Amino acid sequence: MPPAPAVARPQPKAYDFVNIAFLAITPLIAVLGTAAYVWRQGLVWQDAVLFFVMYYLTGLGITAGYHRYYAHRTYECRRPLQLLYLVFGAAAVENSVLNWASDHRDHHRYVDREEDPYNILRGGLYAHVGWIFYKDTRDQKRRFQNVPDLLKDPLVAWQDRWYLAIVALAGFGLPTLVGALYGRPLAGLLIGGFLRCVVVQHMTFLINSAAHLWGSRPYTEDNTARDSWWLGLFTFGEGYHNFHHKFQADYRNGIRWYQFDLGKWWLLAMRAIGQADRLRKAPEPLILKARLEVQMRHVEQKLAAAQAPERMWQKVQSRLEAGRRRLEGAYAQYQVAKAEYLRRKHEWSEDVRRQWREQVEAHQAEFDDARRRWNDLLRAMNRIPRPSAQTAFSMAFVVDLLKYKVW
Ligand SMILES: [Zn+2]
Ligand SMILES: [Zn+2]
Repeated sequence: MPPAPAVARPQPKAYDFVNIAFLAITPLIAVLGTAAYVWRQGLVWQDAVLFFVMYYLTGLGITAGYHRYYAHRTYECRRPLQLLYLVFGAAAVENSVLNWASDHRDHHRYVDREEDPYNILRGGLYAHVGWIFYKDTRDQKRRFQNVPDLLKDPLVAWQDRWYLAIVALAGFGLPTLVGALYGRPLAGLLIGGFLRCVVVQHMTFLINSAAHLWGSRPYTEDNTARDSWWLGLFTFGEGYHNFHHKFQADYRNGIRWYQFDLGKWWLLAMRAIGQADRLRKAPEPLILKARLEVQMRHVEQKLAAAQAPERMWQKVQSRLEAGRRRLEGAYAQYQVAKAEYLRRKHEWSEDVRRQWREQVEAHQAEFDDARRRWNDLLRAMNRIPRPSAQTAFSMAFVVDLLKYKVW
């Protein structure tokens, strides 16, 4: 379904000199100020702890708060946690959550289009920071029509009203005060305030730039968003941006257990202590379907590049289709059986439990086998020769293909 018309976001013209000055001067203070201070006064372990604690609090305020809670509503949480997000999210100096979430919902809805506030197609630097250099000239009355839920929230209204005061107190006053407690207020201001603020800002900005430029697209190729594990390491897991654009209602960005996603682990911890609940997940069969569709499209692109004859197209496509159906079916059956077992095992006798366990294991074995054959099939497709090897194409390929039965 095509997106509804957006509030027109005209080509930016008017510079926002307050934003430009802030974004230009703070890195200078952060880098030169910290360097000069450390040169004269040295560095103590409390400075490093203060930097990382402020980095984590403000970073989580943006990732778990602004992004996954307010912009996408991927879970529910209690007021104390909301307040923590609003205070430390503001301390990251990325605007009030009302503005941030409104821009971000537009980013998802109109990604890579004119109405996308940080449209990567206007250039990496524009998406990273350039877009903030311009005034938002949209009709202010209709500006927040995409965040009606946030407009009703009194805490959000409070943060919007007192945004600058919270920035001053939580973003800069608090680290200065903590610095004063161990006798180095200026270190607190420079390292816990300015340096931390600049680092957290540019980490967030990298998700709008780097995560739309470099990395893989396993879940969708309909937009420029990409997965990159290295970006996830220092952005609280936000580097898994391709998954996030496909399944934005999921509280996770890195969905596998080994994918480094501090936002996901933070939310699991918050649920464990009763501060968050209803953590939403995309259904696994849909995630699998998305991956398979991208893989099938890659094969089709290879066939097209190799100028495969029509007969071959049909043969390959029917093999792929059958393989995909088998894999999806096996996975769905496995999931249903597992869920039923976990839900009802407490009601059953040991005998029934054992029978069900065997059934679940059989479904899992069937799924593993379907997945192995699917991967074999993809590997065979990867050997499709380039057009220059036309003559070798048909025979070698047919031989390869016939080796891999999927049913
Ligand atoms: Zn998002
Ligand atoms: Zn994005």
